Amino acid sequence: RPGRFDRQIVVTPPHKKAREDILKIHTQKVPLSPEVDLSRLAARTVGFSGADLKNLVNEAALLAGRKNKSRVEVEDFENARDKIILGAEHKEMLEEEEKQITAYHEAGHALLAKLLPKTDPLQKVTIIPHGTALGVTEQVPDIERHNVEKEYLLNLIAVRLGGRAAEKLIFHTYSSGAAADLKQVTQLARQMVCQWGMSERMGPVTYRLGEEHMFLAREMAQPRDFSEHTARLIDEEILSILRAMDQRAYDMLERHREELVEIAQALIERETLEDGDIEQILAGERVLAVA
Ligand code: ZN
Repeated sequence: RPGRFDRQIVVTPPHKKAREDILKIHTQKVPLSPEVDLSRLAARTVGFSGADLKNLVNEAALLAGRKNKSRVEVEDFENARDKIILGAEHKEMLEEEEKQITAYHEAGHALLAKLLPKTDPLQKVTIIPHGTALGVTEQVPDIERHNVEKEYLLNLIAVRLGGRAAEKLIFHTYSSGAAADLKQVTQLARQMVCQWGMSERMGPVTYRLGEEHMFLAREMAQPRDFSEHTARLIDEEILSILRAMDQRAYDMLERHREELVEIAQALIERETLEDGDIEQILAGERVLAVA
């Protein structure tokens, strides 16, 4: 019926078992290598929709075909997954100076993801540009999160601010490369304060912002249900959360400066590091020799 837009349909992404079933359907006519484990693949695609999973299978088959393989292998799924999550890899590499800054920026994210508790497991770090990003630090949730704790969110903010903090620590300046990080943390902190009652100062209250407005970044144009004074307090509270986590990120990187430098140097040499490589660096084993 026209004019009835009040009923909202929320499509939640399928759970692990459902993802596995969807993968089974889409791979029915695809020749798979025996090592391909759909249950494992389902576990590594948290948040993927049915369409994403279909896309994943098609993309993996395409990659395998391009290499003239008769069967789709695990690495084809891995590469297809990265392409979907991170965007297409660019062929041209960064200039030397940009490479240095990006390496420290990503190393900052990665090191904090390893050091801080209650963060999503680190998957890989790369300074090969993907999509609009110069570098990427990929964390993959190991569980389906439908409800998140304040501690998890604060650590997530610190990890996201870690890139910029590393630039400040090493180069004593900031680059524009942290724009997406800043946007993400500001939005998270705003939700913590306004929607999830996680600020003691603002109390157990919802301050109506409307998610769709936030996505369009037009919240100022929308009527709000609180005073100018409250709006100022909210802004102060958001800034205080972000400042505290920025300081936490900076202090932690300063304390672990040696590891930060080692990760960044390894990135400059090898461009991409898997979680295992970072573990080795943190365990004190040098990986540079492998390059
Ligand atoms: Zn970043």
